[in-house]
Amino acid sequence: MSLNELITSSASALAEKLAAKEVSSEEVTRAHLDRIAEVDGGERGVHAFLHVNTEEALAVAREVDAARAAGGDDAAALHPLAGVPIAIKDLIVTVGQPTTAGSRILEGWMSPYDATVIKKIRAAKLPILGKTNLDEFAMGSSTEHSAFGPTRNPWDLDRIPGGSGGGSAAAVAAFEAPLALGTDTGGSIRQPGAVTGTVGVKPTYGAVSRYGAIAMASSLDQIGPVSRTVLDSALLQELVGGYDPFDSTSLTDPFDTLVAAAKEGSVAGLRIGVVKELGGEGYQAGVEARFHEALELLKGAGATVVEVSCPNFQYALGAYYLIMPSEVSSNLAKFDGVRYGLRVLPKDGPMTIERVMGATRAAGFGDEAKRRIILGTYALSAGYYDAYYGSAQKVRTLVQRDFEAAFAKADVLISPTAPTTAFRLGEKLDDPLAMYLNDVATIPANLAGVPGLSLPGGLADEDGLPVGIQLLAPARQDARLYRVGAALESLLEAQWGGPLLAKAPSLTAATAATTEGVK
Ligand code: GLN
Repeated sequence: MSLNELITSSASALAEKLAAKEVSSEEVTRAHLDRIAEVDGGERGVHAFLHVNTEEALAVAREVDAARAAGGDDAAALHPLAGVPIAIKDLIVTVGQPTTAGSRILEGWMSPYDATVIKKIRAAKLPILGKTNLDEFAMGSSTEHSAFGPTRNPWDLDRIPGGSGGGSAAAVAAFEAPLALGTDTGGSIRQPGAVTGTVGVKPTYGAVSRYGAIAMASSLDQIGPVSRTVLDSALLQELVGGYDPFDSTSLTDPFDTLVAAAKEGSVAGLRIGVVKELGGEGYQAGVEARFHEALELLKGAGATVVEVSCPNFQYALGAYYLIMPSEVSSNLAKFDGVRYGLRVLPKDGPMTIERVMGATRAAGFGDEAKRRIILGTYALSAGYYDAYYGSAQKVRTLVQRDFEAAFAKADVLISPTAPTTAFRLGEKLDDPLAMYLNDVATIPANLAGVPGLSLPGGLADEDGLPVGIQLLAPARQDARLYRVGAALESLLEAQWGGPLLAKAPSLTAATAATTEGVK
């Protein structure tokens, strides 16, 4: 395989070549590490990674190669993804590599334990390339709230890669990693997927253990896969998912038909519901155009497209921005300068525990984290609890009922993933409300716990940037998402003559230079 093929292949294609011994895991891993060295650093680098795990990744790759060379039981016992490298969102704890959550308050902190998903990845021997950038504690839609500087969108380095998991999505889009893990509380896997032309999946709440994912809003958080194809996400979700006694919300369902569903890929006879409230006003013309083309393709392949109405979705964003900060204010209370990471001592005056906590939190948290802690503390305070948090929980129930009614009429729901393509770095940084609106189409799934998948739907005519299409299924029906997603992906690829990312600008060391001319 050429160097270029090594980094642009899908994870499943790499897995086949590895199994056939046409290529070694060391070669594959080195090619990705070289790519990271080439495009990630420097002033105009992609900056998808906060930490690169070179030595350990190569050691794991060599172990896989040795097992394969030995043949017999050692080779037979290898997981299908063994030797395929992966990048991990830096909200997921890992032994031997720092975990920062994108925050100064955890800078340099080393976890004493591995997240369950990391244990599974290590057991399956996927070399871990490193930890990817994110908005602080996963709060944001652009990675600009990372304490360590933003990630750039490989399609246009002056634009955001989405957030909070912009690092994982950009790494996969820039061919720095074939696979990555993200977390999705209100869209942080799906929206970055949409704006970088990659695939991202938020599994059913409880389908993948959250043990070791630093909690943002525990009733909404979900770990999930990031990849370049629907099949690759299915392979990764099947690997990291399943029941975990360390996560009391984890489901006992096996979720073991995801790969088979992605390989089958069909929509014939399915009812696909277009959510009336997720489109129209506020959605960019190019996003709507690609979305409607996708509907035509689905009809052509034998699906029935119906319109469904979810009237309470209009309140979902408002409810999310009460429930999420309430949980954030509680979850982030543990970062107190005593138990983890940073400790800042007050400059003068008495050295009380409250004053150490205050000085640490003032210095350690960025503006967005502070904003949400204050909002959440307010929403939960005596006297306001019923009016804010209580009302938001009622809306949450109404959103769940809207989903139930919609799924009585349709097998899967469909919408654009995000209302616009990638915006410019800095464009929404000073306007939190404009930033929050990016999640208008993704948040309902988190409130209801249902699974959602975003896949590339083409390029918007006005700016040449990727558009995401979102599919939603009832809780526990993740396999259905993969079946429909894979079918739509092959219909779209037939139309474009290949994967969408083949149209992305090829970044070089001077990544640098410019991406003009590709638009
Ligand atoms: N962008 C959303 C927010 O800022 C979602 C974050 C997430 O899913 N982690 O809260």
